[in-house]
Amino acid sequence: MAMKYADIIVDISHENLDRTYQYSIPVELSEQAVIGALAVVPFGKGNRLIKGYIVHLSNEPKWKEDLIKPIHEIVSDGLVIESQLIQLAYWIKETFGSTMNDALKTVIPVKKTVKAKEKKTIKLAESIEAAKEHLEIFKIKNNKGRVRLLEELIKEEAIDYDVVIHKLNIARTTIQDLEKLDIITTDVERLYRNPIQNRTINKEQVHLTEEQQIIVDSIIKEYRENIRGTYLIHGVTGSGKTEVYMEIISDVISQGKQVIMLIPEIALTYQTVMRFYKRFGDRISIMNSRLSQGERYDQYLRAKKGDIDIMIGPRSALFTPFQNLGLIIIDEEHEGTYKSENPPKYHAREVAIKRGQLSNASVILGSATPSLESYKNALEGRYKLYTLKSRIGKSIMPKIWIVDLREELKKKNKSIFSIQLKELMEDRLRKKQQIMLFINRRGYAGFVSCRSCGHVMKCPHCDISLTAHNNGTLVCHYCGYSESTPVNCPSCGSKYIATFGTGTQKVEEMVKKEFPGARVLRMDMDTTKNKDSHEKILSSFANGEADILVGTQMIVKGHDFPMVTLVGILAADLSLYAADYRAAERTYQLLAQASGRAGRGELPGEVVIQSYQPDHYSIKAASEDDYIGFYNQEMAYRELLKYPPAAHILAILIASKDEKKAMTASELLCGAGKDWTSKEGISEETVIIGPAAASLAKANDIYRFMIYIKQSDYDVLIGIKDYLEGYINYSEHFNGCNVQFDFNPMNSY
Ligand code: ADP
Ligand code: ZN
Ligand code: ZN
Repeated sequence: MAMKYADIIVDISHENLDRTYQYSIPVELSEQAVIGALAVVPFGKGNRLIKGYIVHLSNEPKWKEDLIKPIHEIVSDGLVIESQLIQLAYWIKETFGSTMNDALKTVIPVKKTVKAKEKKTIKLAESIEAAKEHLEIFKIKNNKGRVRLLEELIKEEAIDYDVVIHKLNIARTTIQDLEKLDIITTDVERLYRNPIQNRTINKEQVHLTEEQQIIVDSIIKEYRENIRGTYLIHGVTGSGKTEVYMEIISDVISQGKQVIMLIPEIALTYQTVMRFYKRFGDRISIMNSRLSQGERYDQYLRAKKGDIDIMIGPRSALFTPFQNLGLIIIDEEHEGTYKSENPPKYHAREVAIKRGQLSNASVILGSATPSLESYKNALEGRYKLYTLKSRIGKSIMPKIWIVDLREELKKKNKSIFSIQLKELMEDRLRKKQQIMLFINRRGYAGFVSCRSCGHVMKCPHCDISLTAHNNGTLVCHYCGYSESTPVNCPSCGSKYIATFGTGTQKVEEMVKKEFPGARVLRMDMDTTKNKDSHEKILSSFANGEADILVGTQMIVKGHDFPMVTLVGILAADLSLYAADYRAAERTYQLLAQASGRAGRGELPGEVVIQSYQPDHYSIKAASEDDYIGFYNQEMAYRELLKYPPAAHILAILIASKDEKKAMTASELLCGAGKDWTSKEGISEETVIIGPAAASLAKANDIYRFMIYIKQSDYDVLIGIKDYLEGYINYSEHFNGCNVQFDFNPMNSY
């Protein structure tokens, strides 16, 4: 049905994206007047003609009808990038549930005037030969920062000051000292265009292996035949996926197209960044979340102007306004960070595929541990699947040992290190090789388990671990079921049943106690609060400044540590009992990625997985490097319980300062959902769960309730969401409540 009115944004880069003007649509333009279309409209008192984009259509006039001016003309060239992005915003709003305004803010770069930053570059002030001599002296003096900086400057002609400070983690004082010694100089206000100027652009490309070459050839062939598709590359860690991406990128940009490459921020380290610079020089730009809005806008502008061909960055880089986008790559596509936590709660993978359709671009997903969603899509033919089975070169997959922690308790070993792990650690410390100890705490929300038999307290209705509350009860955060915390284990009767909790800090203490000579680094939320501490810890470990790195899942990404030959996973179970249905998948991913850290160099690696549940399929499969085995088991479980990707879930978060209000609103919403499904005759196949308090039941004095709706048809869920949105708008019970929709959530609430 043709709409009568259009809301138009006349200044798309303006800070107030929500400032729209309503115009009427002349009948003869009704077909062309679609979301994203570029319209010419009379503006202001003089009715001068200006251009604007249509962002909303309706049949309701906002003013007296004769005050609304008609659209003058629709510019037929609908291919401009803004039109595409507005269409994308509209699709995001419809598919993930949010306001158009939030969707537009996600997609459109917003101009903010920022003070131009002083651009500084560091380079050698002496010859390379002299620098090499200095380097030797600093090595002898064990001056690590100086060594690191000189080593890089011998390789690269000039490096951006910020890169030196933030990515290479050189102290400002080190730079000053070297300046005083006339070894380096800092140039102010050179071109900021590229953070690194290569002494030698690395043209000595690697020779692709046969496995790699087959994938490259196949994707390039289709691309050149103008076939656009979605590809999934399933390649074990270190199998050369990045090399495959670079080869394909190179071909795509040679055809005058542009490329967006998404990498989780945590993996965007100096090592990774340098690899791309070495290959593509100043045709790339890097984005990260630390950029201010103004800096981000500048980056977008460069992309739009065609100054760069490749944008690398986390989720937000997806909206780079390339005019001629040819390819989007998502590395580590299984990563939870690709899902936005704020409305619109979109998943970058889905949006990438949609953007690919709008821009005629292909999409490549890559992972050592693909998400179940993607693997299912690949098996069912929606994505084309490629596999890289072996690691490159001499490095081979590590030997993996599983240790049953219940046996350790029987042997009276109460230490957090099993006997085997301890022996292997001593061995590595003797050999001066490095060790990573890994403890996973994400999603861990106080589950209760038996240290004697491994039994875990679970909800009888949801098969999800119960969460301990301070008042002595155990609560299910899916359905609200609760029971009191048992004194004895219901399975074996032992009294060793308690909440599980071993933090990284405790692990660090234990390491120091049991291995007094070892140098230990710790990396977790606490030690990485500062901007660059994450990179700093990783690079000092890479430089051999410690023997053991203790950390959370953060330590598994983005760095190659050739001297690491032992990885210990202290309690593999922790992630298994996270209160959500993705627990086993996350456990598998974590174990596989953590194991992937061992033996990346020429020395073979070993991995010790400690667990109270060594027979759990996610642990077994990870130890055998059997992704497909894991996939089959896990899919069967999801099918049985109708969890994604076997079906879809819509999570609805209802939040309010007023607990009663939130509760009432949740109940009303739940009722409305049930009414709608029965009216539509689909209540049989639609499961509505809740309302129940969220796992984070109260945050900043705001009460949070959840409703979950399961349905096998995504479009039906969208229908329910649309209905509920309307319901919320017409009911006064939702004043003072915030309602958010989340399709197929990645995290528990
Ligand atoms: P992934 O992205 O799958 O973890 P990478 O592309 O990072 O794998 O490759 C792992 C290591 O092997 C890197 O150091 C990379 O430079 C090297 N490498 C990749 N492909 C080749 C090849 N064909 N020949 C030699 N070295 C390679
Ligand atoms: Zn339950
Ligand atoms: Zn027990």
